[in-house]
Amino acid sequence: MKKVSRRDLLKASIPTAACSLLGVPIMSTTNEDSKMKPLKKLKVVVFGAHPDDPETGCGGVMAQLANEGHEVIAAYLTRGEAGISGKTHDEAAAIRTEEALKACRILNATPKFLGQIDGDCEVTKEHYNTIHYFLKEEDPDIIFNHWPVDTHRDHRVCSILVYDAWLNLGKKQAMYYYEVMSGWQSQNFMPTNYVDITPVIKQKHNACFIHKSQKIEDDYPAYHGKMEVFRGMEFNTSYAEAFIRHVHNQRGRII
Ligand SMILES: [Zn+2]
Repeated sequence: MKKVSRRDLLKASIPTAACSLLGVPIMSTTNEDSKMKPLKKLKVVVFGAHPDDPETGCGGVMAQLANEGHEVIAAYLTRGEAGISGKTHDEAAAIRTEEALKACRILNATPKFLGQIDGDCEVTKEHYNTIHYFLKEEDPDIIFNHWPVDTHRDHRVCSILVYDAWLNLGKKQAMYYYEVMSGWQSQNFMPTNYVDITPVIKQKHNACFIHKSQKIEDDYPAYHGKMEVFRGMEFNTSYAEAFIRHVHNQRGRII
């Protein structure tokens, strides 16, 4: 293995800010001069019920991780079929899929679609299996998931399907819940982790505002914008995203 110098270590540590803030171990060493594992490229899957949920809920972290060289996947349960009034499901799905693809390009993420229908997401054995095998196949290092206490049924469905798959596949990943429109959608969200997204705030906004069919740019200051600023105040920075880390086993050990 190539010996890694202290200079290399410092350089390698800089792009891992988001991981460090999330408490995800990314390298190990016994001391500065010993052999150490190389920086690991992480795979991250962000689950969301609709196109725009991953972007608005944790687009800042997605951008940071992808910019740092990690692989980021946006896994959308639906294509937003019911999200444009006056359009058929097929028409809306086509428009919103295209918006999701553009948003992912801005965030350097890869989009995946998981076959449920917007406004009609269900917890069924079939859908449990879909998420189970998707997660098994992707085998990420980190999962971001909807917080389950949410006024939108599709968000609750997404959260519980992902939780079930994570649980039954051995709870191998660090799993974090993100918030969307707290107060209106996410409820009782008490963060355990914060990430300063100030350096990528424009990149996040560009990805969110590309969802023109949802008029996100118009509504942003009233919802997502306030959240970013409020979480930033809590974290002593301009803009932040907040997460709840899942404590994962019976002995109470934290990932
Ligand atoms: Zn949504």
